[in-house]
Amino acid sequence: MITRMSELFVRTLREDPADAEVPSHRWLVRAGYIRRAAPGIYTWLPLGIRVLRNVERIVREEMDAIGAQEVSFPALLPREPYEATGRWTEYGPNLFRLKDRKGGDYLLGPTHEEMFTLAVKDLYSSYKDLPLSLYQIQTKYRDEARPRAGLLRGREFVMKDSYSFDIDDAGLQKSYDLHRSAYVKIFNRLGLEYVIVAAMSGAMGGSASEEFLAVAENGEDTFVRSPGGYAANVEAVRTHAPEPLPIEGAPAAHVEDTPDTPTIETLVAVANQRVPRDDRPWQAADTLKNVVLMVTGVDGTRTPLVIGIPGDREVDLKRLAAQLEPAEAEPFTDADFERYPALVKGYIGPQVLGSESESGIRYLVDPRVTAGTRWVTGANESGRHVFDLVAGRDFTPDGTIEAAEVRAGDPAPDGSGPLQLARGIEMGHIFQLGRKYAEALGLKVLDSNGKLVTVTMGSYGVGVSRAVAAVAEATSDDKGLAWPRELAPFQVHVVAAGKDETILLAAADLARRLDDAGISVLLDDRKASPGVKFADAEIMGMPTVVVVGKSLAEGTIEVRDRTTGQRDNVAVDEVFERLLATVRGTDAAA
Ligand code: ATP
Ligand code: MG
Repeated sequence: MITRMSELFVRTLREDPADAEVPSHRWLVRAGYIRRAAPGIYTWLPLGIRVLRNVERIVREEMDAIGAQEVSFPALLPREPYEATGRWTEYGPNLFRLKDRKGGDYLLGPTHEEMFTLAVKDLYSSYKDLPLSLYQIQTKYRDEARPRAGLLRGREFVMKDSYSFDIDDAGLQKSYDLHRSAYVKIFNRLGLEYVIVAAMSGAMGGSASEEFLAVAENGEDTFVRSPGGYAANVEAVRTHAPEPLPIEGAPAAHVEDTPDTPTIETLVAVANQRVPRDDRPWQAADTLKNVVLMVTGVDGTRTPLVIGIPGDREVDLKRLAAQLEPAEAEPFTDADFERYPALVKGYIGPQVLGSESESGIRYLVDPRVTAGTRWVTGANESGRHVFDLVAGRDFTPDGTIEAAEVRAGDPAPDGSGPLQLARGIEMGHIFQLGRKYAEALGLKVLDSNGKLVTVTMGSYGVGVSRAVAAVAEATSDDKGLAWPRELAPFQVHVVAAGKDETILLAAADLARRLDDAGISVLLDDRKASPGVKFADAEIMGMPTVVVVGKSLAEGTIEVRDRTTGQRDNVAVDEVFERLLATVRGTDAAA
C-alpha cells in the first residue's frame, strides 16, 4: 500500500522542542516520529513505529538465529518474586510500584530475571531440557532519576531481554558467546559504530559482563580504550596498582602547621614553602585527599565512609556509585560532621580511620595507596597536615575502592598501553548471572547422575527504543533525519513537486510501480509548495527522495540520496529500474 502524505498522521514542526538537548530527540519530535506524553514517556506516531518495528525485526531475526525462543511476559508483575531476590528493595526509587484494589503490591517490570527463572522452574526439571534461551521484546519501566534525550533514557522503553539457562559453567559460557555473536550482528545491521567494553554488572549481580556502546559524543557512558585492545566502561576500569614499597627506612611521620590550605593546590604551595623536599618539589599526587561521604544502605542505614585518593585526582561519582550500588552516597553535611567529631573538616587524616581504629569509620583507599607509599595528608587538627605518613605503618585502610577518576594517558590495567577516553551510548549489555537468581528462587534440575543441581543463568539486554534514537543520533545532520535502509520507515519518498496534473500522475504512477515491486513508498501528493515538501523530505529522512517536477517536461526525474546529498537526473523510463537497484543494494552508483 502506498502511504500518502496527504493522509499520513503526521505534522512536522518548525521549532525545536524546548526540552530537546540532543539531535536525535530534536529531529524525532520535529519530524513527527514521536511525541512526549510525560517526562521520559513517548507516543509512537506512524513514522516512528515503523522504525521501531524495523529494529525489532533485526533483533528478532538474530535472536531466532541463535535458537532463542520468543515469549512475552506481562509488564505488570507481583511483588513476591522480586521480594525473594531482594530487588523489590534494592531497586529503590527506580521501581514503579503500585497497589491493586485489594492492597496487593505490584510493580512495573524494570527487567525480568525473576519471572523467567520461575517460568523455567515451573516447566523444566531435567538437564535434558537444557540449554535453553528465551527472549522477549517488551516494554520496561524504570523511574529514572533523570529521564533525558527523548528515547535515549526513557521511563517507559522497549527492551529485548533474553535469559539463558545451563547446567554448568561451560554451558553458560557457550550461551554467552552465542549472544555476543548475535549482538555483533544486530549492531552491525543497525549500522552503528560501536565498541564492546568490559562492564560492571550493576544491580543484576553476577560476574562476566560486557556492554555494547555506540560511540557518541552525547553518550552518558564514558569508556576507555588502549592501543593494545583493552576496552572498558570507565566504571569497570581496574586501576593498575603499584608494587608495595619497603617500609623500613622510611622517615617518621611529622606534623606541620599548614594554615590557609583549603585546596590541594594551596597545600602543595605551602608544603613547598615551609617543608621543601630536597629531591624534588611536592606535587598534588603526593597528597592523600580524604573524601567523606554518607552512605545509605538499601535497609536505610546511614554510615560514614571515607575514601582516600591521591590529591591530583577527583572522585568520579559514577565510578563511586557503581561500586556502592545498590547503596547510595551523599556528601557529608555540617550536621554529619557534628555527629562524628573524629572527622575534622578539611583536615581528615587516615590515622583515625578504619574499622579497627577508635572512630570505627570505614576507610577505603584508591589502589595506588599501596603499602609503603608516603603521603602528605590531614593531621586531624585544624590548620595542620602530617608528612611522610606511610601506608601500612601509620594507617591501615579497610580495603581499596575504584572511585578515582580515570584519565587519558593512565596505563591500561593489562599493560596494553595508555588509555584514551571517549563517550558512548549503552546499546546492549550481556552478562553471566551465574546462580544468584536460580538459587534465590529455587531453580534446580536433575543432572545426569540424578542429583539436583542449581541452574546457571545469563541475562542479555538490547535497548530497542534507545536504538532508534542512537541511530538517529549517529545519522542525522543539520537538515534532519537520514535513515539507513534497514531502519527507514519508507525506502523511497516520492515528491510530486508541482501542481500540474502530469506531474501528479507521473509521481503516483512511479509510486504504484515501486509499491507493486514490494518497495515501501511515501508519496507526497499534498497541495503544498515544492519547498515545503523538500524540507519535509529532508527532515523525515527517507534514504532515497525522488522529485517528480518541472524536469519531467525534459524527460527526467531527480533522484536524491538523503545521506550523501547526491542528486541525479535520471531518464523517466530508467528511473524505476534505477530505484529498484538502489533499494535492493545492487546499484553500483548508490
Ligand atoms: P543505563 O546504564 O543506561 O541506565 P542499564 O545498565 O541500567 O542502563 P540494563 O539493565 O543493562 O540497563 O538494560 C539493558 C539495556 O536496556 C541497556 O543496555 C539499554 O540499551 C537499555 N536501557 C536501559 N535503561 C534504559 C532507559 N531508561 N531508556 C531506554 N533504554 C534503556
Ligand atoms: Mg547495563
